[in-house]
Amino acid sequence: MNTLKISSLLLDAGLWPLIVLLVINLTFRKYGKAAAVKRMASLYHAIAVFIITSLAALIVKWQLTDLYLGLGTVLVIGIMVVFRKQVFPYQRTCAACSAQLDLKTIYYMDDNLCPRCREERSGTEEHP
Ligand SMILES: [Zn+2]
Repeated sequence: MNTLKISSLLLDAGLWPLIVLLVINLTFRKYGKAAAVKRMASLYHAIAVFIITSLAALIVKWQLTDLYLGLGTVLVIGIMVVFRKQVFPYQRTCAACSAQLDLKTIYYMDDNLCPRCREERSGTEEHP
């Protein structure tokens, strides 16, 4: 039984998981400051993937077992849970009216508002 199976699989993937996450992070640029918090969250996800894939590479190099990869992954997930407000700022429902949000708003927009509530808020901000 190969005890390095998962670590070897992650090592074979190379930098691709990190590259995919960083390319997704670039898509936040078009939303500017309206997506700043979720852009940082996307960057934190990329950092977590980088740490886990680097750990897998070290485990394969040092001929350890996947148990260490599991422990490292649990540690990374634990840190992400501690900082969950920064790492997972996503909401499925509107912050104002609890309506179901679309995927673009869930993943990109920091205000977590449905289009109707966003329009109402921007209308009141422009005409106080
Ligand atoms: Zn709403």
